[in-house]
Amino acid sequence: MKTRPALAAAALAVLGLGTAACGGGVAAGAESAPAAAQPGTGKAAVSEAVAAPAEAPAKALQGKVIVIDPGHNGGNYKRPDVINKQVDVLTQKKACDTTGTATNDGYSEAAFTWDVSVRLAKLLRAEGATVKLTRENNTGVGPCITQRAAIGNKAKADLAISIHADGAGSTSHGFHVIMPKKINGPVDPVVAKSAKLGLAVRNAVKKQTGMPYANYIGKNALDYRSDLGGLNLSTVPKVFIESGNMRNAGDAAKLKSSSWRQDLAEALAGSFQTYLK
Ligand SMILES: [Zn+2]
Repeated sequence: MKTRPALAAAALAVLGLGTAACGGGVAAGAESAPAAAQPGTGKAAVSEAVAAPAEAPAKALQGKVIVIDPGHNGGNYKRPDVINKQVDVLTQKKACDTTGTATNDGYSEAAFTWDVSVRLAKLLRAEGATVKLTRENNTGVGPCITQRAAIGNKAKADLAISIHADGAGSTSHGFHVIMPKKINGPVDPVVAKSAKLGLAVRNAVKKQTGMPYANYIGKNALDYRSDLGGLNLSTVPKVFIESGNMRNAGDAAKLKSSSWRQDLAEALAGSFQTYLK
């Protein structure tokens, strides 16, 4: 999240190759409501079942618009002239974007956020959602954090999420969710909904991924900030997730695991259904 010291160019060159293609099939839920017997009448609902031809069950996220913001971008390190440009996030001026962090052995945050986002988009689309990502690949530059917020706003998203992993000290570990604060600005009307979304995300990630609550920030993995452009400028319910600390060995092992990333994507998709119910 924070602007971090530039990594050595040689290491970043390796990081640029770190994007993993998304594998893993997703089985769409095929639930259908059983025809219930009518209590008291003594008649089973057989005639109704015959009268009404079976239709495909409605998908859980049909009609919903979800914007996923994969933090940073794999090409950011090549264009400091672009990403260091200052933008207005209402409470302060900040860099347009940052390179993000990486594990000690060179798995970049940008590659991580891209991989989780692709997995999540696939799960959400299988449930009928319209999904937009704020970037199209992990080889480009930006967009600026202001633009990342604008994409969610323009889509009139039912919810948006910005996916990150942190770069804290090596003994810090665990995940946390960041929600917006009121700033006398455009995010104010969606602060309460964002808090509800954040709680659903926190609960699902705790339950389904085995990543503990962060031991170095927030309270029970919940944090509220007014310095993030992606939140301050959002007019739709939005949260950030810092999925773990890439500089901690235990967290890094999880973040580098494709099956763990799939668990995270599934937890997030489930939390969106909980929130949107
Ligand atoms: Zn980040």
